[in-house]
Amino acid sequence: MPNYKFHLLIGLIFSTIATILLHFLTPFNLTINNITFILFSSIFMSLLPDADISSSKISRIIRISFFVLALTSAYFSHWWLVIVIFMLYFSMEFLLRHRGFMHSLLAGNIGFIIIFIITDYNYYFAIISFSAFISHLIIDKI
Ligand SMILES: [Zn+2]
Repeated sequence: MPNYKFHLLIGLIFSTIATILLHFLTPFNLTINNITFILFSSIFMSLLPDADISSSKISRIIRISFFVLALTSAYFSHWWLVIVIFMLYFSMEFLLRHRGFMHSLLAGNIGFIIIFIITDYNYYFAIISFSAFISHLIIDKI
């Protein structure tokens, strides 16, 4: 099984190729802000499928993020959000089996839609991040 460094390397290669193609074939601009976002989203998306392994790096990052989000929500008295976050946290542990849902194209498409929405409907970012996600599935199949 490839380790996270290998998934990261291949994910960054895939997203770099996607970025270069989009830059030359479409009006997509390579500003420093765009490159920074692409870097972080590609790192996240290339590791995301292994969120179903409780000992993986991405799983730890997501758990810490959930904890920080829950504390922030509690601080602002959004108790319903605290409950939702904890439900997501525990469902990660019990519902996700390794190489199940997180290693599917459906999970990749949900990631695509979430990035599309949070980037104010920028499909360039969504395509580039999706390419990093796909690289993970390809490497796991080889
Ligand atoms: Zn994997």
